[in-house]
Amino acid sequence: MNASGSVDPPTSSRPKANQLIEIQVPQAPSVSFRPLLFSTSQGYFVNILRVKRSGILSRHQHTGPVHATTLKGRWHYLEHDWWAEEGGYSFEPPGETHTLEVPEGCDEMATLFHVTGAYVYVDPYGKAEKVEDVFSKIKMAREHYEKVGLGADFVNQFIR
Ligand code: FE
Repeated sequence: MNASGSVDPPTSSRPKANQLIEIQVPQAPSVSFRPLLFSTSQGYFVNILRVKRSGILSRHQHTGPVHATTLKGRWHYLEHDWWAEEGGYSFEPPGETHTLEVPEGCDEMATLFHVTGAYVYVDPYGKAEKVEDVFSKIKMAREHYEKVGLGADFVNQFIR
């Protein structure tokens, strides 16, 4: 009991990582990711990508394999005729370049991605514009958690 006579909430009622909106790291307008694991020891990361808009998101090449499980909504790559659907699993081989699109009418897409190596974002001619890997993801998350008051060290729980 505290001085005002009320009882302090037990530790278990404090917000858990899962319940924090701020855990989502913004990476572009209407695009954010929820870190699950940043493996600096093996060069991969696992996150839930959330997209709240439709249209083309990016054209990119992968330097390593990608495993994806779609949790919500649907998406596809313009270069393929398959669709990633809710509950479905997709594999993206290293070296492939493709263009991610969330279709019209899909308000929210959420996909768990296990990404080894890097994303190389390319322009329509295949020229590299930006690279993203476990280290740039950590940097982005660290800066976001510092900004929203969780503290830069909040990211450490995801790093192995
Ligand atoms: Fe991809």
